[in-house]
Amino acid sequence: MATSNAIPSSRSIVDVAGHAVGAGTFTIIAGPCSVVTTDQTVRVAQIVKDAGATLFRGGAYKPRSDPRSFQGMRKDGLAMLLEAKQQTGMGIVTELLDVRDLVDVLGVADVIQIGARNMHNTALLKAVGQTNLPVLLKRGLAATIDETISAADYIRCEGNERVILCERGIRTFETAYRFTLDLAAVPILQERSGLPVIVDPSHASGRRDLVTCLSKAAVAVGADGLIVEVDESPEQALSDGPQQLRSEHLAAYMDEMRRAARAEGRRVLRWVDGM
Ligand code: PEP
Ligand code: MN
Repeated sequence: MATSNAIPSSRSIVDVAGHAVGAGTFTIIAGPCSVVTTDQTVRVAQIVKDAGATLFRGGAYKPRSDPRSFQGMRKDGLAMLLEAKQQTGMGIVTELLDVRDLVDVLGVADVIQIGARNMHNTALLKAVGQTNLPVLLKRGLAATIDETISAADYIRCEGNERVILCERGIRTFETAYRFTLDLAAVPILQERSGLPVIVDPSHASGRRDLVTCLSKAAVAVGADGLIVEVDESPEQALSDGPQQLRSEHLAAYMDEMRRAARAEGRRVLRWVDGM
């Protein structure tokens, strides 16, 4: 519930296929870091739907630090996401790495993700700004709050106002976890940009055992939602295994998030609610 010293909010609501993402609602995006097979993708999408999440995420194009590591299933991965969308009806969030893949990604995505490593890629930002799909823009690994808002402005200046920001941890001197989740950035980004701001506890921590407590902290600080990684066999995942929730634990995680959101006067949107 709003308290007297809460930051005043005059924020936009982003429409995602009929769902209102932003003030008052709470959006939960869940799914594997990478999609690898059609069976895995469809099964996890069904689990995400049954657990009551808002949208399904899955990476087909993966931004990896090491060029020799798995780069994603690419076009085949998009086909897997399409199959999951057709079989489950879930809305899809997937990352676009390269302008040359925009048309293919548009064929599947309900939300285009621009990853942390591409937050400064102005050509990519302008390209998604010329589409009419919502864009999930992740804060860069070493980007200030102002730089993050400027990146969002690149999209908005092209005419696309449907931008959702994501705090996913920044690089600091600390090495005990993967990145440092900058929770204070959430209300400041909301106040300065007027946009919905969600939190990614998975990439921030790099550890599944920290995901639930960081998620609750994100709810408490007023985030508009979460994007969380979950897979059926994280040990076998080709990217980000250690941070992914096990799919059999998703329902309990979602219950905790629904309780936390309710305590803050927000309702978690299920994908089916908006259809
Ligand atoms: C991802 O969402 O899988 C991802 C690579 O995230 P980030 O861009 O935040 O590292
Ligand atoms: Mn990942």
